[in-house]
Amino acid sequence: MLLSDLLAALDARAPFSLAQAGDNCGLLVGDKGALVRRVLASLELTEAVLEESVATGCDTVLTHHPLLYAPLRSLVESDPRERLVRRLVREDIGAIACHTNLDAAAGGIADITAIALGLTDTAPLEPAAGGRYKLVGFVPEDAIESVAAAVFSAGAGRIGEYRDCAFSSSGTGWFTAGDAAHPTVGTVGKAERVPEVRWESVVPRWALDSVLRAFIAAHPYEQPAFDLYPVEDVLPGVGLGRFGWLPRPLPVADVAAMVASTFGLERAEWSGDGSRMVSRVGVVPGSGGSLIDQAATVCDVLVTGDLSYHDAERAETAGISVIAAPHGDLEWWAFKRWAEGLAKDLRGSGVEIVISGEWRSPWTTREVDGVGDADRDGRIAGAEGASLGEDRAGVRIWIDGGSRGNPGPSAIGVVVEDQNGTVVETRARCIGMGTNNIAEYRALLAALEIAEELGAQRVEVVSDSELLVKQMKGEYRVKNQGLKDLFEEAIELTRRFERFSVRHVRREDNARADALVNQALDDEA
Ligand SMILES: [Zn+2]
Repeated sequence: MLLSDLLAALDARAPFSLAQAGDNCGLLVGDKGALVRRVLASLELTEAVLEESVATGCDTVLTHHPLLYAPLRSLVESDPRERLVRRLVREDIGAIACHTNLDAAAGGIADITAIALGLTDTAPLEPAAGGRYKLVGFVPEDAIESVAAAVFSAGAGRIGEYRDCAFSSSGTGWFTAGDAAHPTVGTVGKAERVPEVRWESVVPRWALDSVLRAFIAAHPYEQPAFDLYPVEDVLPGVGLGRFGWLPRPLPVADVAAMVASTFGLERAEWSGDGSRMVSRVGVVPGSGGSLIDQAATVCDVLVTGDLSYHDAERAETAGISVIAAPHGDLEWWAFKRWAEGLAKDLRGSGVEIVISGEWRSPWTTREVDGVGDADRDGRIAGAEGASLGEDRAGVRIWIDGGSRGNPGPSAIGVVVEDQNGTVVETRARCIGMGTNNIAEYRALLAALEIAEELGAQRVEVVSDSELLVKQMKGEYRVKNQGLKDLFEEAIELTRRFERFSVRHVRREDNARADALVNQALDDEA
């Protein structure tokens, strides 16, 4: 795959046009015509990450935070950032950033975190403006097809799942060529009336340059006539941050604990009264302090990073709680998952995505005796209750999967309890078309993945599928080829735990997981 193809694949998932003004997304270092074989995905490009990419034979580094943000004034070895650029060039390694475009995109960082928290009916906290233009060109009738083809291939005319979109209307072009002109049509000094087409199409900001160039090059006239307008539109489902509903109201302190356990954080802090019940949760991975007032209009609590003392105060005034989730940790958690999805999608394309093992948050948390677990003023949640911790590495996971129609639209439901029976995570998700049995296995795989993310060592899975339970116990053989792969994947995952067991319950005793399946299917319908 060429680097330009990789950029197109990234643009399809996280359109670069969604980037905030002043951000620096896309190709930062490298050659679009270069061949890409191995891509290292990392939150940032640090010295250690660059070392890793050289050591693992990666030809491209894909990061969330852009390496180049503030302009460079030199390229000298003594400057840490400039040294990285010099090394990239020397090693011929490309650097790509998917930053605020990925924050905003559907299925991007914000969506991944909102879904991980089990939020439903999610919407962006700050919907993205389209950042699009409308190109209106006036083209002689016999040239319209070739002009349109050139402009489409330069990136114009894409609306949602449709491409090559435009509108044309016929009319008459008026002009009189001046003495120095060389008109393609008509004569110098004579008023012309030419049948022309008014042709209009949308142009994303990222394609503006190439589209205008293509239009002018393909247009037969010496002096093509066109207008360009900015389009004020809002794109549904994309934008900064997300907010949505918890499956049921929870105290703020429990939401903080859930945030910590979901994202594997060592601690979670919140502002305001920890016992206040909340149901609408906003999440802004990264720095979301500036969105507190906006969040307060639609949320009860905002989960975000880089919060200051004054942010917490401001939140209190605005009537909202804030939960602090370290900027890098939360983003890395979500970026990793996004990159894993990308790796799956690109399987078979000749490009391998490798997740960095070298990126480290600059922050370290250390539990100090008497601090963190005291809950002195109800504002600090220590590791206890906020993650599974060492002595609480056991989970019980209730799973269910179902399809309407068998086969038909399918969904999974997962409820994770810690050793005390406290629900630490739920998941409800549609998984496309399939059978009941496939959905049951997909629920199991999701459960095992969550257990691993939580750092659980002892896992008990509870299911109402007799088939799945007996197969996992080795009492039934797996004959169905469609289930065999899922079964084998599940067995593989169970090996990662110290202890794994699976238990069968009656359907009515698995009501919570069952409800999540139905809820996901209802939401989809
Ligand atoms: Zn960030």
